[in-house]
Amino acid sequence: MKNLDQKLKHLKTFLKDENFFFNEDFNIKNDTYFKYGGTVKVYTSPNTLEDFKKILIFLRNHEIDFKVIGFSSNIIFLREICYSVVICTKNLNRIRMDNGQISVETGYSLQEFVRVASILYNAKGFEGLEGIPGTVGGGVFMNAAAYGDSISDNLISVTCLDQNDKIVSLKKEECAFKYRSSIFNQNPKKYIILGINFRLQEGNRSAIKKNIEKFHIARHSYQDFVYPSLGSIISINKNIYREIYRNKSQAYFLIHLILEVIFKNPISKFISRKRPSNYFLNLLFLRFIKQKKLGKINNTISDKTINTLINDGEINGQDIVNFILLLHDLTNRQYSIENELVIDSVYRVSEDFEKSYNEIQRAFNEKK
Ligand SMILES: Cc1cc2nc3c(=O)[nH]c(=O)nc-3n(C[C@H](O)[C@H](O)[C@H](O)COP(=O)(O)OP(=O)(O)OC[C@H]3O[C@@H](n4cnc5c(N)ncnc54)[C@H](O)[C@@H]3O)c2cc1C
Repeated sequence: MKNLDQKLKHLKTFLKDENFFFNEDFNIKNDTYFKYGGTVKVYTSPNTLEDFKKILIFLRNHEIDFKVIGFSSNIIFLREICYSVVICTKNLNRIRMDNGQISVETGYSLQEFVRVASILYNAKGFEGLEGIPGTVGGGVFMNAAAYGDSISDNLISVTCLDQNDKIVSLKKEECAFKYRSSIFNQNPKKYIILGINFRLQEGNRSAIKKNIEKFHIARHSYQDFVYPSLGSIISINKNIYREIYRNKSQAYFLIHLILEVIFKNPISKFISRKRPSNYFLNLLFLRFIKQKKLGKINNTISDKTINTLINDGEINGQDIVNFILLLHDLTNRQYSIENELVIDSVYRVSEDFEKSYNEIQRAFNEKK
């Protein structure tokens, strides 16, 4: 710890000398998408790619572990962990249009990017991404996708800082994009994304607008807009309720199907269109967990789906870990955990959380 303290002191001197803005002992909670988290010893959000590179190179040269984040819409900082260095890319948000290509810096908002590309430039193939609340860099990291459109579809290349501090441009084929996966999340220490270059393919303006409208409405039917929330906990493109009951209980599977017929038919959907919810399906799920003694759920569950964590203001790190691991177990550990609990760049873990911290590490190592 003494060694790390010295390194952090050195880092702060460097940031001051370079005139880079940073916060010390920063409570990151209100700056995160999930509105949860604790202290970060040094938090910085560089204004230019040049500054970003300088900071990254300094950290690597001095062997200081760090975490790069975008809008934190897929990650959870735990209040029970104090982190050493976090670099946020939110200010790296320049965009340039050139010869039918569009280049953005990593921190550009994905939602804004979709509007610019689709509406201003009539480009097709981005519509499904319209409601994903992250940065373009964060999206490329995990190959974000929705409604049949994936961020990698029209991607040409990604500019990165590699582990040898060299700027490299990776062509799409070199990025190993798969479902929710890329070379970047497979080797998080190897590449830091700086910018992304996309091809614009002209589409039909009215078809693009219709698609965006359609996907926007669909998203509102399952995404929680009341509480701070994250994307899907488990990376599953099937009905998670059915998947859980399928192997565990025929009876619950049947009751669930009956509830779906009652509450998910077009008439019920129309009646509850202003307040879509899975309230009754969730009640059944909670009863199933209790009756089968499968675990204890202390957190509030989203009305829209069990596959999303919501922060009702009362949640704690243990609830978060328990619920993620419970869903992972209930789906037979067949699907990967999509939300990322931040367990790198750790300065200190609170004593009563150490057991959970080890559990998380095990689960995430298993995932790799
Ligand atoms: C309500 C809601 C709905 C969502 N819907 C979808 C959906 O439909 N489809 C989907 O795919 N996802 C969805 N997500 C998940 C999330 O929005 C996406 O994964 C998003 O692309 C993450 O971007 P971010 O900037 O928030 O990344 P963060 O959460 O900040 O970071 C995610 C990971 O990317 C890494 N990272 C970020 N920037 C860089 C960089 N420059 N270089 C290297 N690594 C970097 C971080 O270290 C971290 O490991 C949803 C999330 C929410 C909250």
